[in-house]
Amino acid sequence: MGVNFRNSNSFIVRYTIILTLISTVFISGLLYVIGGFNAAYMLLLTPLLLITNFLVLRIGVDKYVFKLLQHLYSEVSLLEDFELKEGRVSTDLKSLTSDIEEFARGKKIEIETLKIREEYRKDFLGNVAHEMKTPLFTIQGYILTLLDGALQDKKVRKRYLERANKNVDRLLHIVNDLDTITRLESGYEKLNRTVFDIHKLISNVFEMLELKASKKDIKLLFDKSYSEPLWANGDAEKVEQVLINLIENSIKYGDQGGTTEVAIEKFTKHKWIVRITDNGQGISEEHLPRLFERFYRVDRSGSRKQGGSGLGLSIVKHIIEAHGERIYVESTPEIGSEFSFTLQKTENNSSKSTIELKASSPE
Ligand code: ADP
Repeated sequence: MGVNFRNSNSFIVRYTIILTLISTVFISGLLYVIGGFNAAYMLLLTPLLLITNFLVLRIGVDKYVFKLLQHLYSEVSLLEDFELKEGRVSTDLKSLTSDIEEFARGKKIEIETLKIREEYRKDFLGNVAHEMKTPLFTIQGYILTLLDGALQDKKVRKRYLERANKNVDRLLHIVNDLDTITRLESGYEKLNRTVFDIHKLISNVFEMLELKASKKDIKLLFDKSYSEPLWANGDAEKVEQVLINLIENSIKYGDQGGTTEVAIEKFTKHKWIVRITDNGQGISEEHLPRLFERFYRVDRSGSRKQGGSGLGLSIVKHIIEAHGERIYVESTPEIGSEFSFTLQKTENNSSKSTIELKASSPE
C-alpha cells in the first residue's frame, strides 16, 4: 500500500497530533493517579505515540478508502477494465479525482465508439438488404410470370430466364465483393508478395477490358511508351483486382469517346505511383471523403444502371492498405477523375516472399 505524504494527507497529520495529544494527556493523567508519572519517560513516549498513531491512521484510512472505492466500482460493474490495485489507492483526493476523471473519459470515448459502430452496423445491414432486394424481386417477378403461363411461350421463356440469370449474376457479384472485403478485414487473407512487372500487369488489364471500353468508344492508353520492365513488389493478383476496379470505373463513368490514361511514375526512391486518369463525368468535392466507404455511390440510380454495387472502391482501398500503401483521388465534375496509388518499387525480379495481410480500419 503506497504511503503518500502529499498535501491531502495533512488531515492525517492533524488527527495524528490531536490523537497523540489526547493519548499523552490520558496516559500522563493515568500515571499521575497511580503515582507513577515520570516526565522523562513521557518525553520518550510521545514521539513513539506520534509515529504509531500516524501509521495506524495512514493504513486505516488507506484500507477504508480502498474498500469504499472497490465497493463503488463493483457496484457499477465497471471493474473489468479499470483494475483497482491497492497500491493506487491513497487518501490524496486530487489523484483520486484525476483517476476517476481519466476513467470516465475512457468510458465516454468507448461509448461513443460503440455508438458509431452500432450506427455503422445498422447502415451496413440496411445497405446489404437494399442491394439484395432489387435483384431478388426482379428474379421473383420473372419466375412468377413464367409460372403464370409465360413458360409455354418459347421466346418469352428464354428471354425471361436470361434476365433472371443476369440478376443472379448481380447477386453473386455483390456476395463475392462482400466476401472479399470480409476476408481482407478479418486479416485471414494472406498477401502473396512477388516481384512483377507493373507495366505488363496493366497491359493485361487493358486487354481484359478492351471490349468493354470499345462499347463506349473509350481508348485505354499509357501516357508514354515504356520499354523497360517496371518491377514492383506486391500481390500481383490483388493489384490486378485494384487495376480492374479502377479502370472499369473509368470506363463506366467515362464519357462516350473518351480516354483512360495510365501513368507509372517514380514516387520516391522505393515507390511507384500508378495514376489512372479519365476525362469522364468527374465527382464533386463533397463526395470525395466518403468515396471509399462500402456501398457509397455518388449517383445511386446511375451507378445501379451501370451494374455497380458501391463496393469496388472499398475493395481497392482495403487491398492498397493491406500492402501498406496509399490511395489518392482528385476529381473535377465534367472534367474527369484521377485515382492514384503507390506501390513498392524494386530493382530485380529475384526476391519472393509471403507476408501476413493485416486488417485495416473499416473505411
Ligand atoms: P460502383 O460499383 O458503384 O462503381 P465503386 O465503389 O467502384 O462502386 O465506386 C463508388 C462510386 O464512386 C461510384 O458509384 C461512382 O459514383 C463514383 N466513381 C468511382 N469511380 C469514378 C470515376 N472514375 N469517375 C466518376 N465517378 C466515379
